[in-house]
Amino acid sequence: MSSTGENIKSITGKLPQGVKLVAVSKFNPPERILDAYAAGQRAFGESRVQELLTKFDVLPSDIEWHFIGHLQTNKVKQIVGRVSMIESVDSEKLLAFIDKESAARGVVTDVLLQLHVAAEETKFGFLPAELETLMATEPWLRYPNVRLRGIMGMATNTDDQARIRADFRTIRSCFDELDIRYPQLTAFNTVSMGMSGDWPVAVDEGSTSVRIGSAIFGARMYADK
Ligand SMILES: *Cc1c(COP(=O)(O)O)cnc(C)c1O
Repeated sequence: MSSTGENIKSITGKLPQGVKLVAVSKFNPPERILDAYAAGQRAFGESRVQELLTKFDVLPSDIEWHFIGHLQTNKVKQIVGRVSMIESVDSEKLLAFIDKESAARGVVTDVLLQLHVAAEETKFGFLPAELETLMATEPWLRYPNVRLRGIMGMATNTDDQARIRADFRTIRSCFDELDIRYPQLTAFNTVSMGMSGDWPVAVDEGSTSVRIGSAIFGARMYADK
C-alpha cells in the first residue's frame, strides 16, 4: 500500500466510531488522491474552486467533495451540484447565494457555518455572537435550498495546548447550544474541527468530522494563506 494509504489506515484506525475523516487534498495531484481512494477514502476537502473543478472532472464520481476554503459569491455557481458539502459558510450573503444557485439547479446543498474562535485576525467566520444573531432570524425559512448541517471551526495556530483545547470546547459548546435551541434543524449534527496537528484534541472535545491534509499527504509545497 502507498504511504498515503497507510496514513489513511493509521488515522481511521484511531478515530472513534462515528467520527468522519475528510482528507484535505489541496495542492496534491489526482494521483495522490487515487492512492487515498484505493485505501477506501471517499471524502476529500479542497479549498480552491478551480482546483476542485479540475480534480472533479478526472476523478471517480463517487468521491464526496467538501469545500473548505473561503468562497467568493461569484464562484458559488461553479461548485453547487458538484460538492456534497460547503463547510466554510462565513456570511449570510454567501448563504443566500448558495440557496439561490441550489434552487436554480434543483438541489439542496449541505452547509456548515464557519465559526471564528481562533486568535488570528486572518481566519474567516462568524463570531459566536454573530452566529447566534443570524440563527435567531431563522435563516432556514429564507433559504430552503440549503440544509444547515452544523458548524466548522479552527483552533488558534499555537503550541499552547490549553488554548487549542479551549477553542475546540468553545466551538463544540456553540454547536450544542444551537442544537438544543433549534430542534427543528433535524440534520444539524456535524462539528467539523481538527487538522493534522490538533485532531486528537478536537476529537476529545467532541468533533464529529476531522479535516486532515499534511498528516496524510505529507507537507504541502505552498502555504494556503
Ligand atoms: C488546509 C486545511 C486543513 C488541513 O490542514 P492540515 O494541517 O494539512 O491537516 C483543514 N482545514 C482547512 C480549512 C484547511 O484550509
